[in-house]
Amino acid sequence: MTLNIGVIGCGMIGRDHTRRLQQVLAGAQVVALSDVNQANAEGVQKDFAPNARIYATGEELIAAPEVHAVLVTSWGATHEPYVLAAIAAGKPVFCEKPLATTAEGARRIVEAEVQFGKRLVQVGFMRRYDAGYLALKEAVDKHTGAPILVHAAHRNPAVPEAYTTPMAIHDTMIHEIDVFRWLLNDDYVSARVLYPRNAARSHTKLRDPQVVVLETAKGVLIDVEIFVNCHYGYDIQCEVVGEDGVASLPEPMTVDMRLGAKRQSTILTDWKDRFVASYDVELNDFIGAATAGGATGPSSWDGYAAAVTADACVAAQSTSGEAVAIALPVRPALYA
Ligand code: NAP
Repeated sequence: MTLNIGVIGCGMIGRDHTRRLQQVLAGAQVVALSDVNQANAEGVQKDFAPNARIYATGEELIAAPEVHAVLVTSWGATHEPYVLAAIAAGKPVFCEKPLATTAEGARRIVEAEVQFGKRLVQVGFMRRYDAGYLALKEAVDKHTGAPILVHAAHRNPAVPEAYTTPMAIHDTMIHEIDVFRWLLNDDYVSARVLYPRNAARSHTKLRDPQVVVLETAKGVLIDVEIFVNCHYGYDIQCEVVGEDGVASLPEPMTVDMRLGAKRQSTILTDWKDRFVASYDVELNDFIGAATAGGATGPSSWDGYAAAVTADACVAAQSTSGEAVAIALPVRPALYA
C-alpha cells in the first residue's frame, strides 16, 4: 500500500520533506499541500509533487478523504491546532519540533492522544535517528557503564540579529534536551544557566555563549555549551563519562589531508548537511508506522517533556545560576 500524505507548511523544511517523500523514500506519496502562503505550496507542487492537490487551509487538508497521514511543517505556533485536528480525524501525524510553543499546548496534545487511545503523533526530533547518536547510545548501553557526566556543545557559525537569548533554548538546544533523555533513558530534575563574558561577535540582544547544566533523576550532570556565533562551523559535540569508560559522538565523515606541513579536515557549516541522513530515516520510520495506522519514535510525551524542560532552562537564564526545578506529571501508560 502507498501511504498518501498531506503536507501543511511548504517553507524550508516542508519543501525538503516533500522532496525526500517524493524522490528518496519508498512507500509514500504527497497527495496534498497547504500553506498560508499559497505561492509556497505551488512552488513545492511544481518542483516535487505535480499531482498533489493544494488546499486553502490545513484543516481542509486534514479532513480530505484521500489524505491518510499528515506532515505538519508550518510555523511553530500553528503546530498544536493542526496536530489536534489530525488526532481528532484519527490520522497519523508527523509534527516538526516544537510539538507546541507552550508546555500547556503540548500537554493538550498528550491528553487528546491518550483519550484517542493509540499513538498517532511522531515529533521531528531527528537526532535519535542519526547514525552517530545511535552508535553512541549502543556504547553507553553496552560498554561504558552507568553514565555519570555528559559534556556537550552545540555551536553554530552565526545567527541573525533577531535571534534572542531564549531562542538558544527553544530553537537550538531543544534537540539536546530531547536526545539526552533518550540517550540516558532518564528524566531531568533541574536546570541551571551560566554565562561567561559575551563573545565579541554576539549582538546586544543575545548572551552568547551560555552553558546549561541539567541534572537528571539518576544523578547525571549534563553541561551543554550553546555558542551560536562561534564563527568557525556547525559543530555538535557530546561525550558521555560512565563508570567504566568514556564514549564520544563520532565526528561526521571527512577526508583527512596532509598539506603544506599541516593535517587538515573539513568542519561542516550547515546543520542540514550534518543531519541530512537522519531526516530520511525518521520519515521512513513514520511511513512504516503510519501505514499500519499508528506512530513510533519520539512521541507527544517526549515533545511535552522537552517543552517543560525548555521552559525551565529559559527561566534559569535569569536566576544568576540558581537551579530551577523540573517536574513532570506521571507518564501515561500509552508512552511506557
Ligand atoms: P519556514 O521556512 O518559515 O516555513 C514555514 C512555512 O509555513 C511557511 O511557508 C509559512 O508561510 C507557512 N505557514 C505559516 N503559518 C501557517 C499556517 N497557519 N498554516 C499553514 N502554513 C503556515 O520555516 P521552516 O524553517 O520550514 O520551519 C518550519 C518548522 O520546522 C518550524 O517549527 C521549525 O522549528 C521546524 N524545523 C525543524 C528542523 C529540525 O531540525 N527538526 C529544522 C528546520 C525547521 P509564510 O512564508 O507566509 O510565513
